Amino acid sequence: MAHAKISLERSLTMSRVRTRFAPSPTGTPHIGNIRTALFEWLFARHNGGDFIVRIEDTDQSRKVEGSVESLLESLRWLGMDWDEGPEVGGDNGPYFQSERLDYYRTYTDKLIEMGKAYRFEDERGSAVKFAMPSDGSTTTHDRIRGEVSFDNLLLDDFVILKSDGFPTYHLAHIVDDHLMGITHVIRAEEWLPSLPKHLLIYEALGWDPPEFAHLPVILAPDKSKLSKRHGSTSLLEYKESGYLPQAMMNFMALLGWSLDDKSELFSRDELVNVFSLDRVVSSPAIFNIEKLDWMNGHYIREMSSDELTIALLSHWNVVSPPGLPPGPDPKLLARIVPLVQDRLKTLNDAAERIPFFFSDEFEYEASELIQRNMDDAETVSALEASMSAIGSVHPFTASSLEERLRTLAEDLELKVGQLLGTLRVATSGLKVSPPLFESLEILGRERVLHDLRRAIEKLSQCREHI
Ligand code: GLU
Repeated sequence: MAHAKISLERSLTMSRVRTRFAPSPTGTPHIGNIRTALFEWLFARHNGGDFIVRIEDTDQSRKVEGSVESLLESLRWLGMDWDEGPEVGGDNGPYFQSERLDYYRTYTDKLIEMGKAYRFEDERGSAVKFAMPSDGSTTTHDRIRGEVSFDNLLLDDFVILKSDGFPTYHLAHIVDDHLMGITHVIRAEEWLPSLPKHLLIYEALGWDPPEFAHLPVILAPDKSKLSKRHGSTSLLEYKESGYLPQAMMNFMALLGWSLDDKSELFSRDELVNVFSLDRVVSSPAIFNIEKLDWMNGHYIREMSSDELTIALLSHWNVVSPPGLPPGPDPKLLARIVPLVQDRLKTLNDAAERIPFFFSDEFEYEASELIQRNMDDAETVSALEASMSAIGSVHPFTASSLEERLRTLAEDLELKVGQLLGTLRVATSGLKVSPPLFESLEILGRERVLHDLRRAIEKLSQCREHI
């Protein structure tokens, strides 16, 4: 009776920890792929071990152009460095399975010789299947799920080498994990049902399997499959939307792992220090975009305003935001950043709030100038009075503007909010804008007077139409 009970009790001290990220290049990497990579990377770094990247490109029909580049870009963006790999332009490239076909053929031949696999004719030529035992069970220990057991009867023989000469995933990753000395296979839960196949190949080849940890699936807040409607699923779209790598890393680390029931903010180094598989759960992780927004805002506020200025400029170099001129003046931006820093959720948010600093050609409706309990004539008078106040205020600073305009509101028997509401729309086109007095100081007297004149004209044109 073929009874394959495989014990995986291994002590970490026995060998240097080696993990691998083994994506198939079948599209742009999504959050789930990169969360897997992150846990593999954190586990390796926490244990002072190695992290390897191996592109599993043996299914030629599913290959998508550009996927490898976006996978590597995702890792680089998050600062997840990898060790070794064939040299490409002075750097370590990842391993590619398509360059290692000889190994898979060698071990397929071995399995055939040993009577554990056999050739068969599939539609287009000769292929090879692994022969499953017809009884017994396969049991192992998963680092996250504890003991897992499978009935061998339920599994059919399966293809390990296709007629095109390429191996299937089942064989290829085992050969590589063994030859590359991988000690811990950390991967998505979807592979758990295939585990008995893998364990039986290890057994047939007389190899010790690594330890396994199958990570929990990531679901939407309503427990449905994560999809576009819950926010984007592609990691690099978050980069484009102005999320910071440290926020993304922190957020993804908590998709299935936690240190305790309260700590939420972890820098990259802290994660490396405290990460362990023991605190990864098997129940689904819930993807909560509000939490990501909150975290991103936190990391934006933690930056110095110079750092944020640099981050914005380099982000806008890649993603040109609507409404902003290309290559905004860094000195001007550095003055604006402190006004908006506290309120941003993403780097892209900034672009929505500040275009009026760079151009006076913003649009708004004349009616937006008119505040509650005011009419157009009162609004025009308030704007005219503001022009003369702003024309004569000295020095042209936020504090003297504030003093002068508060007094003016009193003189006009307006609430401060009414007067400032009108001025805000007139000078920014926005109902909610960065702090007004500081913004006026940055805009400068001439520009502010120009905006107020334009507002008066807009209202007058409107009255003519009535
Ligand atoms: N190529 C597989 C994937 O992309 C890797 C699974 C594994 O880590 O073993 O899902």
